[in-house]
Amino acid sequence: MTQKPYDYCIIGAGIIGLTIAHKLLDRHPSARLIVIDKETGPAQHQTGRNSGVIHAGVYYTPGSLKATLCRKGVPTITDFCTKHQVAFEQCGKLIVAVDKDEAARLNGLYERGLQNGIQVQRISGAQMAEIEPAIKGVSAILSPTTGIVDYAGICHKLVDLLTAQGVTFQFGTVVTDLRELSDETIIETSQGVIKTAQLIVCAGLQADRLADMMGLADDFRILPFRGEYFRLAEKHNAIVNHLIYPVPKPGLPFLGVHLTKMVGGYTTVGPNAVLSLGREDYHRSFFQPSDTWRTISYPGFWKLINRFKSAGVSELKRSLSKAAYMKEVHRYCTAISVEDLQPYRTGIRAQAVDLQGNMIDDFLIKKTARSVHICNAPSPAATSAFAIADHLFETGQL
Ligand SMILES: Cc1cc2nc3c(=O)[nH]c(=O)nc-3n(C[C@H](O)[C@H](O)[C@H](O)COP(=O)(O)OP(=O)(O)OC[C@H]3O[C@@H](n4cnc5c(N)ncnc54)[C@H](O)[C@@H]3O)c2cc1C
Repeated sequence: MTQKPYDYCIIGAGIIGLTIAHKLLDRHPSARLIVIDKETGPAQHQTGRNSGVIHAGVYYTPGSLKATLCRKGVPTITDFCTKHQVAFEQCGKLIVAVDKDEAARLNGLYERGLQNGIQVQRISGAQMAEIEPAIKGVSAILSPTTGIVDYAGICHKLVDLLTAQGVTFQFGTVVTDLRELSDETIIETSQGVIKTAQLIVCAGLQADRLADMMGLADDFRILPFRGEYFRLAEKHNAIVNHLIYPVPKPGLPFLGVHLTKMVGGYTTVGPNAVLSLGREDYHRSFFQPSDTWRTISYPGFWKLINRFKSAGVSELKRSLSKAAYMKEVHRYCTAISVEDLQPYRTGIRAQAVDLQGNMIDDFLIKKTARSVHICNAPSPAATSAFAIADHLFETGQL
């Protein structure tokens, strides 16, 4: 018996796929929707391994999708958490300059925050010493609307809500091929064929592979950047009152090793940003030849390496030596020592890179007649997730 096609199929049960599913059912409550993921449950990759920060939106290029959707995303996340009793805290964050050069760059960030319509406040070194005694620096920006949340917790809540609304979840199902026909899209999976009228692909670290199946990935490739965290010893659970971020290095999209209060009541430090050989190789345990080949056979990779040689070497050093990692933290906090660093989960970021070796800064979405592919959704995409879903409807992409 041939199976009736679904109205919508979403590949990927991370926060992007699940928030799109949620918004889809708001608009089309009787739609037949299936969500497929290769893992045994939701949020097992980027979404469940990130810093858990609700970014206010200070850093992003004014007018970009990142800037717009991050700002819109903040209240949508906090409203959802309030309504569905998912823990979050608007603890605020300090971006700390430790010398004159950084203080000058901080001015630029302050202006950018204002341009993006974000609440930002300048803080002197003396004011900082009062509100954050463990942190040293010459000046800072306070972003009071930055917060923390458990993104995996949001995803589990969404799965419960969607299941109650009749959505089919098919976990443990690997998508192996996609074919778009005039009236439907055929999804080949490890568990058989699924047909759908509309396909939405939110595959994170595998976004380019799935886009490739439909001829949409000629101009970008996902490169995986490992982010290693440590959990601080229990005596440091309350070492800071805000999140503490360094001033980001120019030209790099990553925000630097930061101190993050977590909703569980402890504090983490991290993440660094090291190119990873495997896209999902969290334990550095096995060599993944197909991922490595996909990286090194891409001309954009070599151009990127050439451009960021010295930053790459420094990151690698910090990955191999706790002392080198600690040096980065000691620039703004000397109260922590190497002995305070306890093992914590690693995350791997999916970063799209173009053929010229540029990291694609903004969110990248591609569309065909019967599919939408979220091709580049790096940070702050978790913060922006509900707003990204709204954007797809508002721009007629769904
Ligand atoms: C270290 C780190 C720190 C970060 N910190 C923050 C932060 O503090 N705040 C913030 O806003 N953002 C942060 N981000 C970014 C944020 O986590 C991501 O932007 C967001 O989680 C992306 O969600 P996603 O659903 O697109 O991807 P993912 O969560 O990676 O989900 C993709 C899903 O697709 C599935 N999939 C892939 N291929 C297939 C296939 N062939 N068949 C079936 N299923 C498939 C995967 O199993 C996975 O479940 C961080 C990211 C990292 C890695």
